[in-house]
Amino acid sequence: MKPKAILLPAGEMPRQWYNIQADIKINPPLGPDGKPIGPEMLSPVFPMNIIEQEVSTQRWIDIPEPVLDIYSIWRPSPLIRATALEKALDTPARIYYKNEGCSPPGSHKPNTAVAQAYYNKQFGIERITTETGAGQWGSALSFACAQFGLECKVYMVRVSFEQKPYRKTMMEVWGGKCIPSPSTETKAGRDALARDPNTPGSLGIAISEAVEAAVSDTTGKTRYSLGSVLNHVMLHQTIIGLEVKKQLAMAGEYPDILIACAGGGSNFAGLAFPFVLDKINGKKIEIYPVEPQACPSMTRGLFTYDYGDTARYTPLLAMHSLGHMFVPPPIHAGGLRYHGMAPAVSQLVEEGLVTPKTVNQLSCYEAGSLFAKTEGFIPAPETTHALAQTIAEARLAKEEGKEKVIVVNFSGHGLLDLAAYERYMAGGLKDVFLSDEKIAELKDAIKGHPVPERLKSIRK
Ligand SMILES: *Cc1c(COP(=O)(O)O)cnc(C)c1O
Repeated sequence: MKPKAILLPAGEMPRQWYNIQADIKINPPLGPDGKPIGPEMLSPVFPMNIIEQEVSTQRWIDIPEPVLDIYSIWRPSPLIRATALEKALDTPARIYYKNEGCSPPGSHKPNTAVAQAYYNKQFGIERITTETGAGQWGSALSFACAQFGLECKVYMVRVSFEQKPYRKTMMEVWGGKCIPSPSTETKAGRDALARDPNTPGSLGIAISEAVEAAVSDTTGKTRYSLGSVLNHVMLHQTIIGLEVKKQLAMAGEYPDILIACAGGGSNFAGLAFPFVLDKINGKKIEIYPVEPQACPSMTRGLFTYDYGDTARYTPLLAMHSLGHMFVPPPIHAGGLRYHGMAPAVSQLVEEGLVTPKTVNQLSCYEAGSLFAKTEGFIPAPETTHALAQTIAEARLAKEEGKEKVIVVNFSGHGLLDLAAYERYMAGGLKDVFLSDEKIAELKDAIKGHPVPERLKSIRK
């Protein structure tokens, strides 16, 4: 028997994160006046040690010992050869998936949640607010806060709150508090409800609520935490790709294609950034972030400065965006319902270093179901986007008769998303496509925003 899982020995777990800002220049965030903002302007929102990481250009950053200690509950995570899926597809491609679904909350998100809780604790913070889409981030942060004895308050996008009640229960078991967004607790929430009392909610609105709740706390002991998009989040996730590199080396392989789904961009960044460094240095490798057809920020949005949230509390970020007012259709992959994309990922798209792809909801569940039947694990709805693209690439490899090595990030399991699978099997799921008119209307709304630099930004 040849083992399917490539397991990295515990002692081989990477002890540093890779910071892509050492190799790529990312357009800085701007204030409302259109000028780059200084670290002090972010200090009511984030602790200073995290702000320092956000702007750092140091290539390798040590992972603190207490963070490594908690990582070691589930890391190094397995890299698994998907031989049964390969067989079902009758493909000459070799498919490997990195299983980030084996963390306590079931996704890649604790890689940054644990780090962020640690840095907040170090800085003397006692309470963290955040938003969550499908509930993966809220549960990851609740878990991390429990590890460090911090309070956690989560604003959960209403449609997911209703579709996924057990994510709320998970947060509560770990001691977090979770309420549906928009709520009446914040001005941003009340405004959103006034605009549309039946709104399904969006990550943009929930971020506004969580930021408002943090900065309006007068004790000075509350900060906000974001589960994706920002540079420090991408940084913390790079442990994924760094482990994959070592695991592939153990198997004597190097990837031709890397694939991950992209909502805010963090699990994609985690897998891809260490390989982007190789690509900058001349390696040939295709790198695909995959987004839903219902929320196509990279493939159909504008590369522009835009707000990270609906109420415009955040600085302007240089990213691919469908506009901060966009409320994406209520597809089941709640974690991919975000109007923007991480500035670091957007910059790589602009540089042509990574190539975004879109997939539709139905092909995702088809892919998720085939994966579950062959490889066993039931993927999160977000993860099925990466798997749909993987299957498409494996079929292409068959047509071309090429032995490609495809590595896909299995960002999380779907055991709390079974209602979505139930609807799919009952034939109740539909594809959602945004018309050209709708996209033009969305772009029009943000046309006046400052335009980021497009110059080649590779630092040499
Ligand atoms: C949150 C989430 C995503 C999307 O977020 P990214 O920041 O783009 O990674 C993808 N997969 C799973 C399982 C998630 O929980």
